[in-house]
Amino acid sequence: MGSEEPGDCDEVIERLYVYLDGELTEERRVEIRRHLDDCGPCLKAFDFEFELRRVIAQKCRDRVPDSLLARVRAALAEEERSAGGGA
Ligand SMILES: [Zn+2]
Repeated sequence: MGSEEPGDCDEVIERLYVYLDGELTEERRVEIRRHLDDCGPCLKAFDFEFELRRVIAQKCRDRVPDSLLARVRAALAEEERSAGGGA
């Protein structure tokens, strides 16, 4: 037991951005994937980021309206607040 160290989450979240940019080594990806499998909050954050990027990438082909960006930022802030503040 104890292969997962507490405090890992911050690191994983930081790496998520690199992960999503496709700039991680295979080894790191596996590490993150494993953490996500075990860690609900991180998985949720990952799904959110992933979905967000997909949507933005799609929209960018046309144009991203400022209103959408504002809403995305608000949603992100909301997500962070609800993730940080206990039950
Ligand atoms: Zn985690």
